[in-house]
Amino acid sequence: MVNDVVIVGGGTSGLILARELGRRGIEATVFESEKKIGDKADKASGILSASGLSKLGIGFSDAVVNSLYGASLHAGRRSLHVRSEKIQAYVLDRIRLAEICSREAVDAGAKVVTGRRIGTEELERFSSEGKIIVGADGGLSTVARWAKFPPIENHVLTFKALFEKSDRTLEDEVDLFFSERFATGFFGWAVPYGRGIVELGIGTRSGSWNSAEAFRRMLREDSVKEAVGGGKMTDSKASIIPIGMRSKTAKGNVLLVGDAAGQVKATTGGGIIFGGACAMIAAEAVARHIDNGKPIEDYDSMWRKLYGKDLSMHRFIHAYYSRAGEAGIEKLLWVLDVLGMGNFLSKYGDMDRPSAMVKRFFLRGLAD
Ligand SMILES: Cc1cc2nc3c(=O)[nH]c(=O)nc-3n(C[C@H](O)[C@H](O)[C@H](O)COP(=O)(O)OP(=O)(O)OC[C@H]3O[C@@H](n4cnc5c(N)ncnc54)[C@H](O)[C@@H]3O)c2cc1C
Repeated sequence: MVNDVVIVGGGTSGLILARELGRRGIEATVFESEKKIGDKADKASGILSASGLSKLGIGFSDAVVNSLYGASLHAGRRSLHVRSEKIQAYVLDRIRLAEICSREAVDAGAKVVTGRRIGTEELERFSSEGKIIVGADGGLSTVARWAKFPPIENHVLTFKALFEKSDRTLEDEVDLFFSERFATGFFGWAVPYGRGIVELGIGTRSGSWNSAEAFRRMLREDSVKEAVGGGKMTDSKASIIPIGMRSKTAKGNVLLVGDAAGQVKATTGGGIIFGGACAMIAAEAVARHIDNGKPIEDYDSMWRKLYGKDLSMHRFIHAYYSRAGEAGIEKLLWVLDVLGMGNFLSKYGDMDRPSAMVKRFFLRGLAD
């Protein structure tokens, strides 16, 4: 019986898995190619739902940069405003979050090795030694390619930058911009970081604009300029988001978690909550294998049973707004506004689990 787990990739998914294995007394080693944990984590943003974060059990308070209560969705000349009385999401410092996850993994007994890129030769060796191998190595996963998992079909290219000394006054809401004139198949966002700092970012379907060009186009829009509030642009970064789950995420002794598995909300590109939640399920599957000899491949059906429906709904909504174009979304925002959906979303909106919202909608309608 194997009792040694190799986790390739020290992002949040790999580190949460290591923490959970450590807490179960299972030996796990995380190999991270960057020199330091979190070195490139700020290529991405860190907007996480308050409810999702509490489920992951990360002591995240030191990483909080801002708290968010609402959002405005813009398409053409129309906007839909949604605001709650409670904190809906936190903006987290991604580097700090990764450091916290690493500390929690090490405290639980896991080993974290940095500056070590794992290639196919080492994967072969780990495999011949009978180790359980987990690909937590992001959307362009080496482990997935090596083990010949089915591909992730779609990717979104991103570009983001910080604006310092911004005079934006709305510090606790985000703005989202939908327009095929700049954000084909995705959207742009302006997120206040507090203290006069605003992050402006954009995602665009791969094969359309390059993301830096899309960003420049977006910045020409008056509504975007207003949301940014001027200031000096610094710290620009490009990256990629996998959109779409792999049709298989476990094979023999090999598992995929997080972006490597495509456990990402296709609507927003957010992957930390679902990736982390699936990492916790992966730990459960590994423990069942070690303790009771159950197949590790059970992991695939275990996470799909809990989260597959919601991730599919995110894909469906993403496919809808990608096809609708700016005029279609403008019309949709108008209809939602007329139906009082802004109020409904303010009360019952769930950033992660649309199925909970839909259930409430069909049970109670928009009335209360
Ligand atoms: C612009 C942008 C904005 C985003 N905003 C949000 C957001 O607001 N909220 C949210 O929830 N999500 C957001 N995301 C998505 C989020 O960043 C990812 O879903 C999340 O980082 C996935 O974590 P992971 O651990 O699965 O993979 P990753 O964070 O990609 O970590 C993989 C790690 O593996 C390492 N690695 C790769 N290959 C190897 C190898 N061969 N050997 C060793 N190490 C290797 C990498 O260096 C990396 O550290 C955003 C993404 C982008 C690009």
